[in-house]
Amino acid sequence: MLQNIRVVLVNTSHPGNIGGAARAMKNMGLSRLVLVDPQGFPSHEADARASGASDVLESAQVVATLEDALVGCNLVLGTSARDRRIPWPLLDPRECGQKSVEEAGQGIEVALVFGREYAGLTNEELQRCHYHVHIPSDPQFSSLNLAAAVQVLAYEVRMAWLAAQGQAQRALKPEVNSLRSVELATSDEMERFYAHLENTLVQIGFLDPAQPKHLMARLRRLYGRSSVNRSEMSILRGILTETQKFARGEAHKRKDQ
Ligand code: SAH
Repeated sequence: MLQNIRVVLVNTSHPGNIGGAARAMKNMGLSRLVLVDPQGFPSHEADARASGASDVLESAQVVATLEDALVGCNLVLGTSARDRRIPWPLLDPRECGQKSVEEAGQGIEVALVFGREYAGLTNEELQRCHYHVHIPSDPQFSSLNLAAAVQVLAYEVRMAWLAAQGQAQRALKPEVNSLRSVELATSDEMERFYAHLENTLVQIGFLDPAQPKHLMARLRRLYGRSSVNRSEMSILRGILTETQKFARGEAHKRKDQ
């Protein structure tokens, strides 16, 4: 589905930016790069900035005009660093990601078009686009580096794609989810743990049953927040068992003295 989304760079003058854009795309799972009349490409500089994404550069299509780049496209999204004062349907990057993925998912060919480093896209080029996309940067300093702008949009495409796959949560919080995927302790296991904890705390003299002072409630709140899984539970129970053994040994020693 992501192969239906192409990134079009128009008249790029710094080959390093082409490499940077290729890398940004590959990181986010995009692979189709179309270059309209690029300057100094192919070049060592582009390869160096692409890092491990030289395959995206090698398969990049080089064409003479924006029209050639948009052949077969049903949805064209043109980016702009400034408000050109042409009333045009405007999307923010998030909406752009969602729209691109929605349409690409239905087999529609989508183009994300980026302009020249020094002059952006011409009004004429922008008017070839169905929507304009503006990254809401500081108006006092609104122009991002070309490869950085590609990164922002490619990231939003990925997030929309992950959400479409129902995987956004997993991608956002891998560590939390890898813990969750281990079976959590059940509530009856937690109850047995709390009983064991309470007995132990009484045994070692930390909890006075005559004056419990909400200690068990506070500990329940603490462990309740922790999403304890089964293996962590057996560690906790092991610590309690050893603590009780130790306490009994100490008590015997005291009796013997
Ligand atoms: N001086 C140019 C800036 C071009 S920056 C101008 O005023 O338009 C090079 C390209 O990066 C732009 O054509 C656009 O494709 C992209 N870009 C940079 N900043 C952007 C922003 N804030 N929103 C959307 N695209 C941006």
